[in-house]
Amino acid sequence: MPSLYIKGNILRKEDRGFEKALMDTLFNKLDPKRRPFCIITPHNVADIIATIRYAKSIGKTISVCSGGQSWSANHIRENNILINMGGFNHFQINKEKLTAQVEPGVEGGMFLNALMNQNLFFPTGHCKHTKLGGHLLQGGLGWNSRKFGIACENVTGLDIVTANGELVHANASQNTDLFWAARGAGGSFCGIVVCFHLRLFTKPLYSGAITQAYDMKHLEEVYRWAYEVGPQVPAAAELQLLMSRRVLKFLGAGIEASVPIFADSKEELEEAKAFMLQSPIKKKAFLSTPFVPYQVTTMCRFRAIHYPENHHWCVDNMWTSATIDELLPYLKGISKALPPAPSHMLWRNWHPSNRRADMAFSVEDKIYLGLYGAWKSPLQTRKSCTWATDWMRWMSHLSSGIHLADENLRNRPARFMLDTHLQKLNQIRAVRDSSQVFSTWPTCPYSSYDPRVLYP
Ligand SMILES: Cc1cc2nc3c(=O)[nH]c(=O)nc-3n(C[C@H](O)[C@H](O)[C@H](O)COP(=O)(O)OP(=O)(O)OC[C@H]3O[C@@H](n4cnc5c(N)ncnc54)[C@H](O)[C@@H]3O)c2cc1C
Repeated sequence: MPSLYIKGNILRKEDRGFEKALMDTLFNKLDPKRRPFCIITPHNVADIIATIRYAKSIGKTISVCSGGQSWSANHIRENNILINMGGFNHFQINKEKLTAQVEPGVEGGMFLNALMNQNLFFPTGHCKHTKLGGHLLQGGLGWNSRKFGIACENVTGLDIVTANGELVHANASQNTDLFWAARGAGGSFCGIVVCFHLRLFTKPLYSGAITQAYDMKHLEEVYRWAYEVGPQVPAAAELQLLMSRRVLKFLGAGIEASVPIFADSKEELEEAKAFMLQSPIKKKAFLSTPFVPYQVTTMCRFRAIHYPENHHWCVDNMWTSATIDELLPYLKGISKALPPAPSHMLWRNWHPSNRRADMAFSVEDKIYLGLYGAWKSPLQTRKSCTWATDWMRWMSHLSSGIHLADENLRNRPARFMLDTHLQKLNQIRAVRDSSQVFSTWPTCPYSSYDPRVLYP
């Protein structure tokens, strides 16, 4: 068998430390029961090129992870080669040009902190540890994304190692097929991204949040209000409703309406606050705050309360533009079947911009519903691991698609890209990776797009 010589680390299935290294690539501690043939942690681009050649020579496929924070652990495949890009974790900021170059293993929170110190901003993920690799490739609904765009819309170029083992640059004028695919293909991208080139923003003058918490008995009023106010919520505000059995970590079962706001002027701030402060249901809240100024890093810490580490998770989601009367029976059902916290349901008023770039990312809708089932002990897995997917399956007739980062494709195939985009992506893959060295989404066999698989 040919050998692989690289500067980075190689761990084979039989090596000591393999299990730990594999589980360390997973935020979700649910064991996927799949094991790669080996894990490669490249030290440099030459290591990646050598690994691609090696994989081809022994007939193995390659999967990639940057932070392993995708809930469904699609990067873990049976008997293939896993490339862990976590060591590619450097970044450079150019304040004058409002640009940055970031490697995929850079932690979103750390990057945002460095930007804020220079009065800059980027829509990184809502939790500090979310890595930029998966965030940017899968779309990335980040801080202030309603205004600054989905994170991947702010990728202006990428350095990519292709299936041929070449390092290329892709942007709007060169290797445009790869540039198009990299913004939304996520787990089916036909290359390994070693660096993202980003467009940055000036840090908003005002940042902070308004929070209101409601007892579960007000469920119908809260969701009716959120539904009705949704289209008018200014882009500077993100209306999110988090339903759980432990609102704000310490209180009882209910719904937490938390609204991060990022505004560039006093007028914009006042306009963004108004729908919350003048809400007709506000008097029913058992906790209600004014607008409290926070740095986004503090808001990241608040958000992390609901996503603790060292848990097993089953997550699924849907985009919808169903009516509130269609949704309510299911929301009520979910409230009754809600497992203990930190399990929760997230309702996000999204109402997307109608000025998206042309890119692989192409499915979004007015409302985003995410179910996050969490449990601590592996003994609970059998009981807990279908809650999120079952509810999303029952509601699938109301869904217009799913969001890739929080999906559960292995257990519930669903639409995550427009048909035309999926066909184009498969054509790009067929040309760029004719030897099929890179793995694709679990339910979408390479270049054999079958609508019956994706739309059962
Ligand atoms: C606590 C928590 C909070 C989250 N918050 C958000 C949020 O606010 N917004 C949001 O949109 N999502 C969020 N997510 C979901 C989502 O998984 C992450 O945004 C993102 O995918 C994490 O990036 P990652 O690098 O860890 O992904 P990974 O799991 O490492 O990668 C995802 C997929 O992308 C591909 N990939 C990764 N790196 C590369 C690379 N360098 N080259 C080629 N392909 C690659 C792989 O195929 C992989 O399967 C969150 C997840 C968690 C666990």
